[in-house]
Amino acid sequence: MQILILGGTSEARQLCRALESRREHHIIFSLAGVTNSALPVPAETRIGGFGGVTGLADYLKDNRIDAVIDATHPFAAQMSRHAVEATRVCAVKLLRLARPAWQAPPGARWHHVSTIAQVPAALGDRPRHVFLTTGRKDLAPFMMTPHRYLLRSIETPHLPLPPYTTLLLARGPFSLDDEIALMTQHRVDCLVTKNAGADATSAKLDAARRLGLEVIMVDRPALPPAQECASVEAALEWVRQSEIQGIRRSV
Ligand code: NAP
Repeated sequence: MQILILGGTSEARQLCRALESRREHHIIFSLAGVTNSALPVPAETRIGGFGGVTGLADYLKDNRIDAVIDATHPFAAQMSRHAVEATRVCAVKLLRLARPAWQAPPGARWHHVSTIAQVPAALGDRPRHVFLTTGRKDLAPFMMTPHRYLLRSIETPHLPLPPYTTLLLARGPFSLDDEIALMTQHRVDCLVTKNAGADATSAKLDAARRLGLEVIMVDRPALPPAQECASVEAALEWVRQSEIQGIRRSV
């Protein structure tokens, strides 16, 4: 099969490595090209947008793609929506690999919001020390707020930073002890995060609970229905099943 993996997560890379090591299928790994620090995969890699639903549908046809695995980040909603629409138009199989969302542990103080734009209202007007881990792209809502921010990002933001921001460039995984030390050192009183669900960055949630800090959790965007799995192993099984069904159809 010709399989297109829409990447941007560690699970996408793991899946790509696992499929490539079997040498049973041709894998094309796709990245948006928004970051300079993307880790390489051992597969044919294409970089850049497809040009909307039409562009993706043309790509699927031109490259005779049999199956698409959408392993993008849970907040890459536009790409996921386009994948549903383009695979429907082209009658190509689609699997969405979505890691489970984080759940509030007992005793945690989580305040849920639906979008990043709602975070400033949840923070309130009283100046606070905020640990901001929602990424480098979504800084606009914080520009006019009275808070101090510790902003952690993998790459330097292109946009201006909110006033009173300390920038910390770092890539997970992060340990619980280090997260507690960091939040204590910066006198953090509130953690802001998107519900990414990644193990590598979940220690901040335990650290916030241990320190009794409020967490403002941006919930995941709604996506159109698609066949979904939650692990790389389940995605590999789906590929196996798709292959068997394909063989049955062709005999
Ligand atoms: P998005 O808003 O859903 O997508 C914006 C556009 O970027 C898409 O319409 C598509 O352009 C292009 N695109 C996105 N993912 C692509 C991929 N894997 N291959 C080719 N084109 C892609 O996505 P985003 O939130 O900007 O995220 C961009 C990338 O960063 C994604 O791959 C995602 O997995 C990764 N990422 C996102 C976050 C996050 O918080 N959003 C966090 C970590 C990693 P066209 O319409 O031209 O096809």
